[in-house]
Amino acid sequence: MPGVARPRRSVRSALALGLQSRGYDITLMSYRTADEIRSGRVMSTQVMFHTALQHERDLALNFWESQAPRIEGLGISVAAPDAAGGTAGGTAGGAAGRAVDWLGRLDRYAQSVDQRVKLAGWAETFARRGGRLVIHGASVTDLDFFASRYDLTLVAAGKGEVASLIARDPARSPYDAPQRALAGRFTPVVRDPVGRLPSGGLVLGVADTVVTNDPVTGQGANAAAKCAASYLASIVEHGERPFDEAWMRSAFDRYWETARHVTKWTNAMLAPPPHVLNLIGAAGRAQPVADRIANGFDDPADFEDFFYAPDKADAYLASLVG
Ligand SMILES: Cc1cc2nc3c(=O)[nH]c(=O)nc-3n(C[C@H](O)[C@H](O)[C@H](O)COP(=O)(O)OP(=O)(O)OC[C@H]3O[C@@H](n4cnc5c(N)ncnc54)[C@H](O)[C@@H]3O)c2cc1C
Repeated sequence: MPGVARPRRSVRSALALGLQSRGYDITLMSYRTADEIRSGRVMSTQVMFHTALQHERDLALNFWESQAPRIEGLGISVAAPDAAGGTAGGTAGGAAGRAVDWLGRLDRYAQSVDQRVKLAGWAETFARRGGRLVIHGASVTDLDFFASRYDLTLVAAGKGEVASLIARDPARSPYDAPQRALAGRFTPVVRDPVGRLPSGGLVLGVADTVVTNDPVTGQGANAAAKCAASYLASIVEHGERPFDEAWMRSAFDRYWETARHVTKWTNAMLAPPPHVLNLIGAAGRAQPVADRIANGFDDPADFEDFFYAPDKADAYLASLVG
């Protein structure tokens, strides 16, 4: 069976657990033990929408589903230009002084589980099921070693340093600087998915390591779950054949079919043109628009049909009248 080395533990331990459940021999490397993660500082708050949650259910990793509150909707609230102290984003409420303030209903509920609980729990499950969990930050030298010994080495290091092994793809990365002054600001980037090590060995990037979007649309953890599910299917379907560069590129291309919608939408939201602002405003007057935008957080591919092109946006709004 192919062995897969992964230099970290994070949301993508879902991929390690998924492969493990299918009989693959997996080594997972992580900076921190499960206890260190559990007692560490709070990570970013992540709302996971239906499709991403379903991937976790498919792998029977939804350990906390019955305990976590169900999120039935989401809203956009933007302060009016002359309102003092307003914020953008978040839930609707307190309409006074708001230029935009609405709540869309999700077709299927979302949930948010503290990442510390989730990642620690998954890591312990992986180890309890016989997985090799190595507590050590993976260096390039380690990756060289893994690439020579294992059938496939995946790098899921988030925005960590080893991600720089994997080159930026300028054609898919319109920005070359952070777009907002957020804490932990970073530049949205799509990378060439295949990293070449000094030894000539190859690694395949996973999730944020290959596609990093601005957090404005809250998609990173969702996209990471989708990446894990897509790579899992590509690995299993490939059977005993070698995980060579051509396979790595095809696995990424398959994931990109989903990820490209997330990237396109997130980049559009960083510099919304007038017709997008008009749609967001219309959602405050027409519940179907609010609901459709809300559900786009689960499946951003839908934005292709009504969001980006002014004529499609106009046609959609016109279809709601009468
Ligand atoms: C402010 C903010 C808000 C966000 N809100 C949302 C949201 O609402 N919804 C959403 O879906 N997403 C959200 N995100 C994005 C989300 O947090 C990330 O996209 C997601 O966690 C990416 O998962 P990942 O597994 O690729 O990387 P990460 O979660 O970053 O995990 C990478 C892991 O690799 C480890 N690592 C790095 N280098 C090494 C190494 N050399 N060896 C071993 N381990 C290593 C790190 O310690 C880390 O644990 C938000 C992000 C930010 C910054």
